[in-house]
Amino acid sequence: MPPLWDLVIVGAGPAGLTCAIYGRRAGLSTLVVEKAMPGGQLLETPLVENFPGFPEPVSGVELMTRVHRQAERLGAEFLFATAKGLETRDGGWAVHTEKGEVVGRAVVVATGAHPRELPAKGAKEFVGRGISYCATCDGFFFRDKTVLMVGAGDAALTEALFLADICKKVYILVRHPPDDPQAVRAAAILRERALAHPRISFLWNAVVDEVLGTNNVHGVVLRDLRTGETREFPVDGIFVNIGYVPATEWVRGVVELTEGGYIKTDSWMRTAVPGLFAAGDVREPVGRMAQAVVAAAEGALAATAAERFLRLGEGWHEHK
Ligand SMILES: Cc1cc2nc3c(=O)[nH]c(=O)nc-3n(C[C@H](O)[C@H](O)[C@H](O)COP(=O)(O)OP(=O)(O)OC[C@H]3O[C@@H](n4cnc5c(N)ncnc54)[C@H](O)[C@@H]3O)c2cc1C
Repeated sequence: MPPLWDLVIVGAGPAGLTCAIYGRRAGLSTLVVEKAMPGGQLLETPLVENFPGFPEPVSGVELMTRVHRQAERLGAEFLFATAKGLETRDGGWAVHTEKGEVVGRAVVVATGAHPRELPAKGAKEFVGRGISYCATCDGFFFRDKTVLMVGAGDAALTEALFLADICKKVYILVRHPPDDPQAVRAAAILRERALAHPRISFLWNAVVDEVLGTNNVHGVVLRDLRTGETREFPVDGIFVNIGYVPATEWVRGVVELTEGGYIKTDSWMRTAVPGLFAAGDVREPVGRMAQAVVAAAEGALAATAAERFLRLGEGWHEHK
């Protein structure tokens, strides 16, 4: 029989690790299941400037190494494996992994999200050879080059402005016409800055049909959505920012998901199912910000909610 943990947390990003810290401080035996290195998405960013407690910018790796160490010092244990399924078990929940099953009296899903892939021919093959999902990570490789940013939300425009300081030219590809008020969904200040920037130009009403290249990307085939016409457009790199996909395939059918696949919870991070909680970017994004400090706070709430559930029983879970 596998041991019965008080708290099993799946995902060791800011949400999962903070949940582990609070879980241990509440006296719960705590296991964190992580499929990669502890740290989550922040491992991809060289500088974090907005996490409290760091007056100077800190690298994502350093910040998350510290949080991981803190969770370990408090006694959280780690299993490096991929969670593949979840089912109720007498007195708790069983998480299935390729290394066997782990059972928790309460489970917190903190598996985060990953960028949505560019839906174009050749897009997969050129990742790392001209296609990037992270301007902060890879912008440097495109110094004085011409790049295309696909997407027009806050993240896309923030990254386009960042790239405009490095690259010779940045094109922003928008799938809607310029007169559509929804075409650029980013905050007004970002839109104005991008529109005014001398090294940024917008390409409206088009999508990428195909990525062109040999060893590295040398262009794209763009399709005009009004006329259907296609044309080759030379670029040295493509940055993609068309949204996120939550890592919830493994809990589909067990917990209620939004249309976009995010987990629905209340403000205590409780799902509708007793003993099952979710925290961080895996949660329904309406009304929350995808930021490390928010994910960490939600991890703290989820651990506290789990502790109350374990102490007070299902009645507490159902109490809204
Ligand atoms: C390039 C970049 C820069 C950013 N910069 C900042 C910034 O400066 N400031 C800021 O506040 N935020 C920043 N963010 C956003 C921030 O990183 C996220 O909001 C935050 O990491 C979300 O935390 P999370 O714990 O919910 O999920 P994640 O960080 O996504 O962590 C989820 C973890 O779950 C693991 N996992 C997923 N599926 C499974 C599975 N089936 N089994 C086991 N483990 C699994 C993943 O490997 C990962 O470690 C940035 C994000 C990116 C991508």
